[in-house]
Amino acid sequence: MLIVKKFGGTSVADKERIFHVAERCIEEYRKGNQVVVVLSAMGKLTDELIAMAKDINPNPSKREMDMLLTTGEQTSVSLMAMAMDALGVAAVSLNAFQVAMHTTSDYSNARLLKIDAERIRMELDQRKIVIITGFQGVDRNDNYTTLGRGGSDTTAVALAAALRADACEIYTDVDGVYTADPRVVKTARKLDEITYDEMLELASLGAGVLHNRCVELAKKYGVQIVVRSSLNNHEGTIVKENVDMEKMLVSGVAGDKNAARIAVVGLEDQPGVAFKLFNHLANHNINVDVILQSVGRDGTKDISFTVDREVADEAMEILERHRKTSLKCQSINLDKSIAKVSVVGAGMVSNAGVAARMFEAMYDANVNIRMISTSEIKVTVIIDEKNLERAMNAAHEAFNLGAK
Ligand code: ADP
Ligand code: ASP
Ligand code: MG
Repeated sequence: MLIVKKFGGTSVADKERIFHVAERCIEEYRKGNQVVVVLSAMGKLTDELIAMAKDINPNPSKREMDMLLTTGEQTSVSLMAMAMDALGVAAVSLNAFQVAMHTTSDYSNARLLKIDAERIRMELDQRKIVIITGFQGVDRNDNYTTLGRGGSDTTAVALAAALRADACEIYTDVDGVYTADPRVVKTARKLDEITYDEMLELASLGAGVLHNRCVELAKKYGVQIVVRSSLNNHEGTIVKENVDMEKMLVSGVAGDKNAARIAVVGLEDQPGVAFKLFNHLANHNINVDVILQSVGRDGTKDISFTVDREVADEAMEILERHRKTSLKCQSINLDKSIAKVSVVGAGMVSNAGVAARMFEAMYDANVNIRMISTSEIKVTVIIDEKNLERAMNAAHEAFNLGAK
């Protein structure tokens, strides 16, 4: 069997954990399997590198930032190879350049285009454990890129697809995918299985346990993912196309603080206004999430929408630049203290009461709803950030997610 095993930052945070992971991989190797290991940077190293960069230059170039961040993963893979060597097993570490993992040139948010499997296969054929840097890639001009925070999961799934691996295991610091972040909702329950679609929705709505792009790739290439703990041997969660269990109405709750709301007030109420507004943002690759437009009155209307918090200032600058000319609006304001809470479930499609139950839960918890967005498999409410934990717990309770 060829097995891809990915370990996150906490799982390789220090010497003891590195040896623990090394032993776990060696155990698999000694059964006669081919083992490919994907690692994240140790502990909080990526955050520390970002802080170091900002201390030198508050506005670092994106290219240099990615050049810096790739050192985090390079540190963990080389130390892991040394640990395995110390335990008497042949291992080799490879970075994105050596593999090679080709990506687009979108620094800090690159997409994987193609992975060359040749070098990895050659090393595996020599009975080595191959340890590969997660999160990083190389663009067509040989610049290092990164895949976005949490992107090592995506590296692992992409490798599993490219190598046609028999298993893809993502090891982390919790036992699997829960009905909500177990650090926020104490009664959260581990799921045995979840569909790609539900997991993709949860990951996109803030459940950081898996990178959303990794779920997208897994679905596209039919890679079954197992999410489990690196700290114990409990069975994890299987992410796959169809689950055998009875479809639940709601399978999970996700919360996300990475949001900001922009309100554009007093726009002219006529055709083309929304187009102009969002086109200015699209031209700068700024993604907009929830959109709300007021009923027009006195020939004017307001449009509010949410964006990721880290691009909020840039979005404001762009809109301010066009305020008097093409937008012709009265004012534009920004609120960075909002959060998103969502309930997700494939069973929702055919059930009318889900949104109402979600709103009732917010009412009972005395949480004011500022915006709403729904789709076939999710209901999202935008609330004040300070209410996030309370709202997540309330939603979790309202849908009985803690009960078996
Ligand atoms: P790693 O470094 O292993 O990639 P992450 O911190 O990226 O780990 O992801 C694991 C974390 O995801 C958990 O510690 C947990 O707090 C958080 N999390 C958020 N939502 C969920 C969920 N629905 N199920 C499990 N964990 C979740
Ligand atoms: N080290 C990167 C990060 O912290 C990638 C990852 O952990 O998946 O975002
Ligand atoms: Mg992660």
